Amino acid sequence: MSDDINNSMNYINETSKINTTNETGEADDTVRNSENSENSEINDDSKTKEDNSETNEISENIRPFEIDEDEIDEEDLKGIKRRKFAILFTIMAIAIVIGSVIAVQKFIINKQTAETLNANEISDSKGSKNQIDNKASNSENSSEVEDVAFIEKYLNQQMKGQMPDGADGKKVVYLTFDDGPSETVTPQVLDALKAENVHATFFLVGKAIDESEVNKNIVKREITEGNAIGNHTYSHNYKYLYPNGKINLENCMSDFEKTNQSLKNILGQDFSTRAVRFPGGQMTWDKKDPAGANAMDEALHEKDYHQIDWNSLSQDAEGAHKNAEQLKQEVIKTVSGREKAIILMHDTYGKEETAKALPEIIKYLKQQGYEFKIMK
Ligand SMILES: [Zn+2]
Repeated sequence: MSDDINNSMNYINETSKINTTNETGEADDTVRNSENSENSEINDDSKTKEDNSETNEISENIRPFEIDEDEIDEEDLKGIKRRKFAILFTIMAIAIVIGSVIAVQKFIINKQTAETLNANEISDSKGSKNQIDNKASNSENSSEVEDVAFIEKYLNQQMKGQMPDGADGKKVVYLTFDDGPSETVTPQVLDALKAENVHATFFLVGKAIDESEVNKNIVKREITEGNAIGNHTYSHNYKYLYPNGKINLENCMSDFEKTNQSLKNILGQDFSTRAVRFPGGQMTWDKKDPAGANAMDEALHEKDYHQIDWNSLSQDAEGAHKNAEQLKQEVIKTVSGREKAIILMHDTYGKEETAKALPEIIKYLKQQGYEFKIMK
């Protein structure tokens, strides 16, 4: 920027020099021309009587100024006047050039100031955005956030019947909700979480996010209120993701990326989540397509994505429709004996009973001494 100003200032200075020279040159010419014409006039004057009388008249006019007639004649006076005019003209020309240089300078300074102000405004708005981000992360304290890689490993070891490395005697529960957002259920879930002052991790379906502006605002609310977001594919379409019961790596990866982009569109390009959950869960495909599941796992780890299954559930997507009390009983049954409980629930359309059961489920888990965490 300063280089630009220097360059433009140099240019202006050069231009003003040229202008001044030109103006002066013209002025000089004018002076010279008037001198020439004076000389010729003088020559002519000496020849004509009429002119002589003119000279006399003017000489008389000069008399009141008490200028010696012999030394300065009328033509000399004209010459002086013309020279004065030429000098005045030159001074005015220089003044105009200097004036324009100052005006241009002021304009550049104003422009620079405006740019600086704009830059400050941008950094201010960034600052306030950071404040919002900080607020969001303040409403969840850092000890409340678990690394997704830790949970992935914990669940894998537990599934294989091994003692998980992360077992430390501390009871922790992770509430997770799949298939949202929905306009009907997710707001009720968020209300319940807020009322109980706990947070959850929402595994979102990209297609559902993009469905409506209301849903996009729900995603913003999830984050603003201190919850975490995971990726549950874009289409949630088994035929597309697992054609003929085999994992299609390309389709799965592009579906995860598509949801990722939908999230960035709403939450900003800096947003990313490392938590992914397959429709049907990792354990389903580990059994049905072990080779495909292994390749998938490698591809995900390359991008620092981690698969998060569950070890407890409300059964709100399995079997017959259950009421709130039945859902709570399923949670109690499956959480029982778990040191780290990752609970699967759903907040999509038709899951009103889940939202209804949630306050009671949270109260029960609190009574059991569970600490509530989210995963990132
Ligand atoms: Zn699902």
